[in-house]
Amino acid sequence: MVVANLTISSVTLEKTSFAENDEGQFLLSPVTEVMKKQQQQQKKKKSSCCSKEKCKLVDYNSLPNFLKHNEFILNYYRSEWPMRDAVFSIFSIHNETINIWTHLIGFFVFLTITFGAVMMVPIGSSSVAFPDMSPAAANISKTLEFYNHEVLLHGLASSSPEANLTGVATDTGVAAQATARWPFYSYLFGAMFCLLMSSACHLLSCHSEHTSYVMLRLDYAGITTLIVTSFYPLVYYSFLCEPYFQYLYLSFITVFGVAAVLVSLVPVFETPEFRIVRAGLFACMALSGLVPIVHKMIAYGQQPEAVLTTGYEAAMGVFYGLGVIVYATRIPERWMPGKFDLAGHSHQLFHVLVIAGAYSHYLAGLVYLRWRDMEACY
Ligand SMILES: [Zn+2]
Repeated sequence: MVVANLTISSVTLEKTSFAENDEGQFLLSPVTEVMKKQQQQQKKKKSSCCSKEKCKLVDYNSLPNFLKHNEFILNYYRSEWPMRDAVFSIFSIHNETINIWTHLIGFFVFLTITFGAVMMVPIGSSSVAFPDMSPAAANISKTLEFYNHEVLLHGLASSSPEANLTGVATDTGVAAQATARWPFYSYLFGAMFCLLMSSACHLLSCHSEHTSYVMLRLDYAGITTLIVTSFYPLVYYSFLCEPYFQYLYLSFITVFGVAAVLVSLVPVFETPEFRIVRAGLFACMALSGLVPIVHKMIAYGQQPEAVLTTGYEAAMGVFYGLGVIVYATRIPERWMPGKFDLAGHSHQLFHVLVIAGAYSHYLAGLVYLRWRDMEACY
């Protein structure tokens, strides 16, 4: 520490120099040696909470400004850890451990759901998916597979799979054609991207100011992707028979999402004073989903699937709404600073509420698929 504050106080004579430390003592040492020591000390200072063997956790007041996000969390911070230590801190206890794992587990849950959907939910035309069957037999088989999956996982069908199949056969003569899957898979991708970026952001942002800047942008991009892709199944399947509104709503939310990502690139966006603005921007994006939902209910309110999907969307709205409130107000840690440093602070609650909201929307997606597989445009 003493050598770090050395100031060169005299003109160099050949390779020798006088230097003064911060206690006013004069030292005589070769310039190269002084420079070398200064460099070593600066390097050491850069990762001051890390010794050769171990990095230490620090308190809020010891943090550089770019890591000061929540003054109600007082301890257990990682500060400017080397990248390797930051990566391996996924297996140690600090105030971001639960933030990392809640969304990492959420990511694996959605990955499993996606694999399950790919295996069980029919994709594309019958000739591709079921090459050895007649089109009608393939469609029946696909529908059965879809409903088995849906009933097994969620018990969503109001009657048995067989009864549904009979209904399809008698109502339409032939089982309905599977509708496009891309909006449903876009949503699953959006959810996985959001959860993975969030987890990585919480893991790595402690490394450096630059890393923190990049990771936070990826985190905001992930949240935006989740919100935008949440619109895709809602709008695509609800307005399958009204392409004008389909394109209108899909274009609107996509443009809004790109604008939100661009706004998040402005450095001031991540400052603590902008916490409310951040929450407000994402809340406005999500709230704009009310327009197609109300439109869906006016146009198709008599359809049980429209009502059921709106129910799931309302549940999602409640989860996300609570999440935004908790995120913006930093409850409960503001009531008892330091008591929720490791477990129970607002950001952890926010993460759990995001997963609950995303899962509700996935359930709505399954109902949309059932609706549009069973009922084509007329
Ligand atoms: Zn987070």
